[in-house]
Amino acid sequence: MQSAMMDLSQSKSRNLSASSNSSPPSDSNAENILRLLCRWPGCHHRGPQSEVELSAHAVREHPLDFARLGQLRAQVACVRAIEARLAEERLRLMDMARHLRDCLAEKQAKNREFYNRSDTRPPFTYASLIRQAIIESINRQLTLNEIYIWFQRNFAFFRRNEATWKNAVRHNLSLHKCFTRVENVKGAVWTVDDSEFHRRRLQRGPGVLHSSSSHSETSAAIQRQRSLSPATLAGCGGSQTADVDSSLVDKEEVSMQYKQELK
Ligand SMILES: [Zn+2]
Repeated sequence: MQSAMMDLSQSKSRNLSASSNSSPPSDSNAENILRLLCRWPGCHHRGPQSEVELSAHAVREHPLDFARLGQLRAQVACVRAIEARLAEERLRLMDMARHLRDCLAEKQAKNREFYNRSDTRPPFTYASLIRQAIIESINRQLTLNEIYIWFQRNFAFFRRNEATWKNAVRHNLSLHKCFTRVENVKGAVWTVDDSEFHRRRLQRGPGVLHSSSSHSETSAAIQRQRSLSPATLAGCGGSQTADVDSSLVDKEEVSMQYKQELK
């Protein structure tokens, strides 16, 4: 029996050391002991030192009879009930996620409309806006001029003071590692590395305004931006004022959060 356990733990150790050399041998012993637990309902036998001993224990202690068949049926019923409950909860989760996604889309459409008509500065960083412009394009790449056009088409605010904000756009494109300039048939186009964008964003925390932007930011705008957390964005029962103040919904940020929570 001892040698059988040694064989098991040694082979486990070899397997572990093939993939990782950091696991101490005691971990694999603990795993083997756990695996050798008798799981028969009501049995708390923790003694088996090997699979051979475990099966000998089962034959001896849990023979085939009406009582064991009854226990088996009860266990089948238990597993089915839990599976049915899980399926129901999963449906609930999908309904909730779908509802919030719809709210989000509606809110986003409203906010887009608001910023398209109102001469209010959108409370988003230039980097976020540039990324949005790029990811909305067919090939996820835009020339500098196409980025300018996207800003003007979507935001009344960017239909004036062109020199100032265009300078900020150029500054942000060259500043952030997530934006890359690529030469193709159209000439120079800009692409975005989304993982780099989100990595940087997570480091900074959500909703922090771009401090290095050359565009002058008012402290009120900064306050607005800071209050724009994904949590408040996800809440869809807000008042009209809140809708206007929370402004453009950063769809990607919220949907990223959904994805993480749904994992
Ligand atoms: Zn047992």
